[in-house]
Amino acid sequence: MHITSLKQTSPTEIAVTWSDGHSSRIPLTLFRDACPCAGCQGETILFRTYVPPAADKTIAGRYTLTNITTVGNYAIKPVWGDGHDMGMYTWEHLRSLCQCDECVARMT
Ligand SMILES: [Zn+2]
Ligand SMILES: [Zn+2]
Repeated sequence: MHITSLKQTSPTEIAVTWSDGHSSRIPLTLFRDACPCAGCQGETILFRTYVPPAADKTIAGRYTLTNITTVGNYAIKPVWGDGHDMGMYTWEHLRSLCQCDECVARMT
């Protein structure tokens, strides 16, 4: 599975279309807060766990999408208004953020 299109449909939301025909709606706040990079989610190296400080969610541009690039054929990398561009979202991760009625119903 891969994405066939991704566009920003409003200042606060993106729409993703998948190769299986599914359409995803993902709010930018959720998208950004789910950033999988080590700086946002922490990481464990040699049994030492790094827990990042709580993000300052009031930083200007934090939830503004300025660009998205494709990484190979398996992920995308968004660039945010505050300059953050470390997060690589695999298709699986991106799909798990889908907030359409169907996916939300499946999660509850
Ligand atoms: Zn991040
Ligand atoms: Zn969905």
